[in-house]
Formats: sequence, structure tokens, C-alpha cells
Amino acid sequence: MRRLAAVLLLALLPSLALAAEPAVVDPGRTMLAVEGRDRGAPRPIALTLGLSRAVPHRVALIDGPPRLVVDLLETRVPAATAADPSQPLALRWGPAPTGGARAILTLPGPMEVDSARMNAAPAALSIRLVPVTADRFAPRTDPLTVLHGLPQPAATGQGRAGTALADGRIRVVLDPGHGGIDPGAQVGGISEAAVMLGFAHELSAALRAKGIEVVQTREDDRFIPLERRTTIARAQGADLFISLHADALPAGEAAGATIYVWDPQSNDRAARQLALLHDRSDLLAGMDLSNTDEDVSRALIDLARIDTQPRSQDAARHMVARLNAGGIAMHRVPVRGAAFSVLKSPDIPSLLVELGFLTDPGDRTNLFDPDWRARFAGAVADGVASWAADEADRSVAAGAGP
Ligand SMILES: [Zn+2]
Repeated sequence: MRRLAAVLLLALLPSLALAAEPAVVDPGRTMLAVEGRDRGAPRPIALTLGLSRAVPHRVALIDGPPRLVVDLLETRVPAATAADPSQPLALRWGPAPTGGARAILTLPGPMEVDSARMNAAPAALSIRLVPVTADRFAPRTDPLTVLHGLPQPAATGQGRAGTALADGRIRVVLDPGHGGIDPGAQVGGISEAAVMLGFAHELSAALRAKGIEVVQTREDDRFIPLERRTTIARAQGADLFISLHADALPAGEAAGATIYVWDPQSNDRAARQLALLHDRSDLLAGMDLSNTDEDVSRALIDLARIDTQPRSQDAARHMVARLNAGGIAMHRVPVRGAAFSVLKSPDIPSLLVELGFLTDPGDRTNLFDPDWRARFAGAVADGVASWAADEADRSVAAGAGP
């Protein structure tokens, strides 16, 4: 029995060792071509990604605009190359949220995956896309809707975030932390829930003064479950979600304002590694596109997040710059990652702002100082406005693309 175990272990070792070495994309064997002659009609697209070895992969189509998304697990993200403006099609590379590399190709119109094959030697993923009519286009539907039966994002007149931002009108959902039976941190007779509700009203006024629409998850001292808070943001078609807190911190920990963005790696690394190992054999063959099980939903959430995560980080950076300029003392590491439930929305940039810590005497003095709060609210409003302007510039520069 022990010998059998040893043999099994030896059989497994080479593949495990191999898995540790990330694959690289070979630019010399990577090709993107439109098939046939241009007669004004949509044409098939052939994409070949040359690789140093075969890797697990996922292929999916998403809408708004139609895009092909390819995840290559265990693969190093290729260095950014300058886009050739003479080429109508260009791959954009980024890290895949479950590890590995992700390529996004904005399509000229609705298409479907005709074939997607991983070749072992020479290693390459070959994908062929064929045009379909708009009514036959079958992109992935919204992942959260699939998982939880949540409402689709509300149409805000201008459509999705990119276009809403382009004309300068954005909607921020402000989430005063805690409330009702959950007071949050408590010092003396003061609760975090009450302090954050008061500050949310002040911040709402500062944002509205800049022409930014604001919706609060709560207007009074009531309990709202965490998942309900992100649901409100979706139902309101939020361009940005900001949760406001001033929690308790064990004595001796550093104080100061901190902004958190979503990062499941900050406390879930082992679980992610295990999931990758379990999924590996299935993914090596490529994912069945007709499948809509939970794995697919999770992949879809990741797909949406590749656009959202950098936007959350941008928003945090804009805010930190304005808070610094406003003389607000921040934590030594002002932007940090955490797997907080309220930051989970895959398609809405989301931040959790700790204004300070009620348990820290210095922070507490600030939180009770109307002048300090006004400076904080002004800086956050300035940060949101400059982020929105940046986003609008970027969506104009990117044309119709994301
Ligand atoms: Zn809190």
C-alpha cells in the first residue's frame, strides 16, 4: 500500500513541478486575423495564442460591447505592447483574477465561438469566431443575477457606466456602515453607526454640490444586511459604491484613514490554490460553454472584475491624493486589500473608507470635529470628481471599447 502511494506520488510529481513554472505567450506564434475578403459584411475571426506549454483555459463571450475573454491559467501576463492603430482588432492583456493571464478582444459585432482548441505540441490555443445576428448573440448573462436572483443594473438613461461618465453625470451609492441592531464600534455613548450616518449626510451634500447624484443605503438608524447594501448599489445603477466606517482597533495598532479595495487573496490564498488544483483537469480541456454551473458563474464574476478592479484602485488613488492634499492623516499604507462582503460587486467599482478608528483618541477627536469632517468630505468629493473625469477621458480615448 505504501509502495502504491509512493508510485502515485512519483507519477504526480512531474506535473506538479511543471505546474509551478508559468507558461509564457509566444508573440511569434500569436496571430489575430480576419478571414476572407472585405465585402462589407461581418467576417470570421481566427485567433491563435502560441504558448510555451498547454495550460488550463476558459473562453467566454460577454456583451456591452461584444467581447471575447480568454483566461489562460498558470500563464505569465505578456508585457504590454503598443497597440497598432492600423489594426482594427487588438488583444488587451491583464492578470486573470484566479491567477494566470487574461486576454480581452473587443469584437466588431455579435459573434459566436465556432471552435476553441488547445494544442499540446506545439502548444497553442486556437479560437475561431463567426459572426451571428444580434438576436443569436448569446453572451454570458450577468453573473450575480444568475447566482442570487438580484435585479439587473437599472438603466440610468444614458445606459452603463462608461456613457454616463462621459457626460459627467455619475451616481454614487453611499453606505453608512452598520445601523439598527448593529451599532458597530462603540466608545462611551457614541456608536460608529451614528457617526457614519451623520458623516454620510455631510458627504452627500459635498458630492451633490459637484453635480454628482447620491443615493444612501440608509437614511436613518436601521439595520441593513451586507448583501442588501450591494443589491441597492446594483438596483440604483451605481457608478461607484462607497462604504463608510470608523471601526474599533486593538490598542497600539496604527491609526489614520484607510481605503480598502476588494482583494480575496488577502485572506483566502489556500482555498484558491486548492480550487485551482481541483479545476485543473477540467480546465485543461477547456470549459463547456453551454454549462451554467457555479464554476461558470464564478468565472463570469471574474470576467466582470477585470474591468472593475483597476477602476476601484484608480478611485482609491484619486481619493488618497485629495485627502493628502487636504492635510488628512492617513495610515502608513493608505490603500489596502480585503475580502469585505460589501466590496464584492463584480461590476461596480467599490471602496470601503475607514475615516479613522473610534478607539484611537486622536482619530476620535477628528471624527467629532466639524471642520475636520468638512475637509474629509470635500477631499472625498474632489477625489470622486477627478476620478470620474479621468474615466470619461479614458472611455473617449478608447472609443467604443471598454
Ligand atoms: Zn464599521
